[in-house]
Amino acid sequence: SAEPDFLKVSGLHAGYGQARVLQGLDFSVARGEVCAILGPNGAGKTTTLRALSGMVRGRGSVTLNGTELLGRSPEQAARLGVAHVPEGRGTFNDLTVEENLRIGAHLRTGPRWRGRPERAAVAADLERIYDYFPKLRQRSRQAAGSLSGGEQQMLAIGRALMLRPSLLLLDEPSLGLAPLVTRELFEIVRAVNEEERTTVVVVEQNAQLALDIAHRAHVLEAGRLVLSGPAQQIREDGQVAEVYLGVS
Ligand code: ATP
Repeated sequence: SAEPDFLKVSGLHAGYGQARVLQGLDFSVARGEVCAILGPNGAGKTTTLRALSGMVRGRGSVTLNGTELLGRSPEQAARLGVAHVPEGRGTFNDLTVEENLRIGAHLRTGPRWRGRPERAAVAADLERIYDYFPKLRQRSRQAAGSLSGGEQQMLAIGRALMLRPSLLLLDEPSLGLAPLVTRELFEIVRAVNEEERTTVVVVEQNAQLALDIAHRAHVLEAGRLVLSGPAQQIREDGQVAEVYLGVS
């Protein structure tokens, strides 16, 4: 890629009060790449995503397209193009699918912006999301709480895409989903990445799955990166598979 340091993480430390979780992370993600962050429970994968989106305070530096992200609120990070789909999805059960999607656009446009060009743009974005997720179109007037787990995850990702993010952060998208549903979801993420050139950082317990769509991967252990490389290399490294990915 022409922009290898589109996302550049340097000496990132972060934690919760006395609990120091991230102990100095260094990695870059090129524009348009899918980056997987793998590793055992408690390694700090979720904390890494939170530091990128302003949900936890970090030390060091995180730049997106040259702009510093550390020290920003989640809303400021969102306005700078960072969309975070948290573990557990965070969609609103009592609102319809379409209302949830429209909330995603509010972060971009502001709730009081009701001009016609903006309305048309949001309508076009909705269509685009429905093209990626036909199941959401079928269920657009249904309450989000009535969707299956897989559909709720699609909705959470769709809502994030309404922000037109340049960086999409996905935390454990496969959590609690059946294998077939997970595969479908990852194929859609791959399509979004290829068609929109959205840069993606995905945290996953299911390493095999994440490595299928990732260009590069990092293995995190106890708050440090212990291994980084092209996804294919990490997939093919037998010892890596056994030790870090729980595969033999
Ligand atoms: P998991 O897959 O289990 O979520 P992870 O790699 O995503 O693992 P993190 O969620 O980033 O790990 O957690 C890293 C460490 O930080 C863990 O020891 C966890 O207990 C701790 N931690 C996470 N959230 C908080 C919090 N809000 N307050 C205090 N400690 C926390």
